[in-house]
Amino acid sequence: MNSIYASLGDTIFDVMSGLARETGAVNLGQGFTEWDGPEDVRRRAADALITGPNQYPPMRGLPELREAVAEHYGRLQGVAVDWQSEVTITSGATEALAAALLAVLSPGDQVVLCEPMYDSYLPMLRRAGATARIVRLQPPDWRINRQALAAAFTDKTRAVLLNTPLNPSSSLIAADDLALIAEQCVKHDCVAISDEVWEHSVFDGAHHISMLSVPGMRERTIKIGSAGKIFEMTGWKVGFACAAPPLTRAFARAHQFLTFTTPPNLQEAVAFGLGKPATHFDAMRQKLARARDRLAQALAHEGFVTLPAAGTYFMAIDLANSGINLSDTTFATRAVKEAGVATIPFSAFYETPPDSALVRLCFAKSDDTLDRGVDALAKARRLLT
Ligand code: PMP
Repeated sequence: MNSIYASLGDTIFDVMSGLARETGAVNLGQGFTEWDGPEDVRRRAADALITGPNQYPPMRGLPELREAVAEHYGRLQGVAVDWQSEVTITSGATEALAAALLAVLSPGDQVVLCEPMYDSYLPMLRRAGATARIVRLQPPDWRINRQALAAAFTDKTRAVLLNTPLNPSSSLIAADDLALIAEQCVKHDCVAISDEVWEHSVFDGAHHISMLSVPGMRERTIKIGSAGKIFEMTGWKVGFACAAPPLTRAFARAHQFLTFTTPPNLQEAVAFGLGKPATHFDAMRQKLARARDRLAQALAHEGFVTLPAAGTYFMAIDLANSGINLSDTTFATRAVKEAGVATIPFSAFYETPPDSALVRLCFAKSDDTLDRGVDALAKARRLLT
């Protein structure tokens, strides 16, 4: 086996969901919603499956979906994208991330990225022959330090891989920090691979800022989105990559030999869904923010200290400040086995152990699941303190 994969286990998300299934625990670990996205979008996919066509769509994606992606970002984010030369449809953001890394990197290149980070980044960039230069962010603000960022860039830096809103910290990269990244990218002539899958899950009136819109970055950014996140149907692996024509050409060459294409009925349904009015996405955000607030209040009532959650489906418990003196992994493992609640330890998002003990909870759940999850967490706290 390739040595990079030989040193990896199954992802923490699968491990925790597996344990939750086995033990009957409440699953607040893996990031999926407990509701099944808009019914009209699902009906569209069902109808398209029956009426067809069900043969290979074009390699870069159905034209109507590529047009819908461009229209969606133009209307809701003020980012102008040419659907014909700048949009590629992928099998989820996971494939788009892999294609972007394979398209841009050569052996010996370096990639700058912030920690905590989504768990596919490091193995995939290493598999592409590159090495990582990691800038660690610290709670509760998760801001980028100018000196630390500048020190991570060298003459070998080829790309920066960023994620905003950031999973698992639930923070948004501030406009000032995006400008710092842009300054370094321009200075070192780098590409930004911008994982924006949580772009619609931002709360409290905040607006998502795409790296494509940051001055100096339009020609050097690959913006990655995910229909699974936009429509709260994480099993729908439909992603999009938007980038200037030369980057899109390189990206498409990598994509064509990863998956080549994505099921046509899902593409058609996502094209329809992306045309929904802004009010649809506002309502989704309100529903998520309400769930977030319910979970935060119930946890506070049980004596837990949580970090602010400005975006994503996630909230973090600060274990030490909640009176629990265990590592995040020990807490998560014991909580699922002994108290019946699955969480995700933050250390899964770090190359070397983090400085604080945090566990991630997914709040995109029904009131009943959230309440049962909090009861089980309270039990864990009683058992483990
Ligand atoms: N990037 C981040 C930051 C994510 O949180 C996720 C999903 N949890 C992905 C990428 C993968 O998205 P998809 O399911 O569309 O492959």
